[in-house]
Amino acid sequence: MEKWNLFLEEIRKNIGDQDFVHWFSPIQLNSVEESKIILTVPNETFKEVLQESFFNVLSNQVKKIYGQDFKVEIFSLEEKADSKTKWQSFLNPNYTFQNFVVGECNQFAHAAAKAVANSPAKAYNPLYIYGSTGLGKTHLMQAIGNFCAGKNKMKVLYVSVETFYTDLVNSLQNQKLIEFRNRYRKADILLLDDLQFLTGKKTTQDELFHLFNSLYESNKQLVLASDHLPKDINGLQERLRSRFEGGLLADIQPPDLEMKVAILKKKAEMDNTYLPEDVALFIARNVRSNIRDLEGNFLRVKAFASFTNQPITLSLCQKALSDLKEITNGYLTPKEILKTVAHYYGIKVQDLKSKSSAKTYAFPRQVCMWILKKVTDLSYPEIGKLFGNKHHSTVIYSVEKIEEMREKSLELKKALEELLEQFH
Ligand code: ADP
Ligand code: MG
Repeated sequence: MEKWNLFLEEIRKNIGDQDFVHWFSPIQLNSVEESKIILTVPNETFKEVLQESFFNVLSNQVKKIYGQDFKVEIFSLEEKADSKTKWQSFLNPNYTFQNFVVGECNQFAHAAAKAVANSPAKAYNPLYIYGSTGLGKTHLMQAIGNFCAGKNKMKVLYVSVETFYTDLVNSLQNQKLIEFRNRYRKADILLLDDLQFLTGKKTTQDELFHLFNSLYESNKQLVLASDHLPKDINGLQERLRSRFEGGLLADIQPPDLEMKVAILKKKAEMDNTYLPEDVALFIARNVRSNIRDLEGNFLRVKAFASFTNQPITLSLCQKALSDLKEITNGYLTPKEILKTVAHYYGIKVQDLKSKSSAKTYAFPRQVCMWILKKVTDLSYPEIGKLFGNKHHSTVIYSVEKIEEMREKSLELKKALEELLEQFH
């Protein structure tokens, strides 16, 4: 919400009070997705004016406040009410089975999704996909949607819990609950994403419970995704938990190196980019285990090559990605981690690397080793090298010592949490 206010404020500064009050104050933030924000406006006229007269200011500000790859999508309430004639699925057309790379880590979920796509409401209902963020849950669930919407012309509806929640709140405010219910109940396939956001939303859970029953009983398919198992979603109602667990639970695990390389190759093939083997390996090694970050880094390399008018080579890639690490906090280099820890304890990076066993230096050094082990892929010997070639047994000892102390000292636990927060 803070970002949204900032966004509005920047726009107001840009276009002046009068236009702002007239055209922007009636806008509602519908939802913030992965790479777009969705806005709702009262009617089609608003939508046209915004798209025609304020498009530049909107897209510039959204990039500035939400991120370079963000776009704005505008819906009018009229358009929503018109859903009788036009069915909106909210699917990303790129999220298909063809574009989904299958490996050991996602084989099971993929097979389950295929089975569901081939016989909706007959194979597994609901299908519940779970796994950490950025591993392909949304892609896979939308692949089911794209397949069924295309092949059988089924009414597919994709919605994240956050959007569902906003939609519900708006409907309650505008006394449009009946329309809200009808809209969701008309779906042949409901894809409900990010269930972890159900925490603490009682009305939403109640509404979802009835929607679930209604769809399930009329033989409609439900596909659910979350980064937690139903039993691990805080405050999830028992009756929802048992329904979510009533079908098939399928997990997606982080990809290994080989899989990461395969995904990069697939992405390169999709947009006809030549991607040398060593570059693919470099990018794959640099990303911990998140496919979204993997893609982000690849995009960055491609953009860098195109801006500088150079072919994609290993040295270009190293340059492109070293820049990235300076700008974003997505993946930090060991160098930056050392800098942050040193700063936290008020010492110099040199002190961390030194041989001094004075407690003022030795303790932060051990903490830093523990953090490196925690947030990077580096091996013990590799970590040792960063600290003036310390032997790997020293690193192991330090990591274990901090781990042990952490359990006993609340103060250290808190310090570590504060530090870790800066690395995510
Ligand atoms: P999640 O919903 O689990 O957070 P997403 O489905 O949004 O993750 O995936 C993040 C990005 O990674 C998407 O752009 C998606 O296309 C891509 N991706 C994930 N898994 C695969 C895969 N197995 N093959 C190809 N692309 C993938
Ligand atoms: Mg997702």
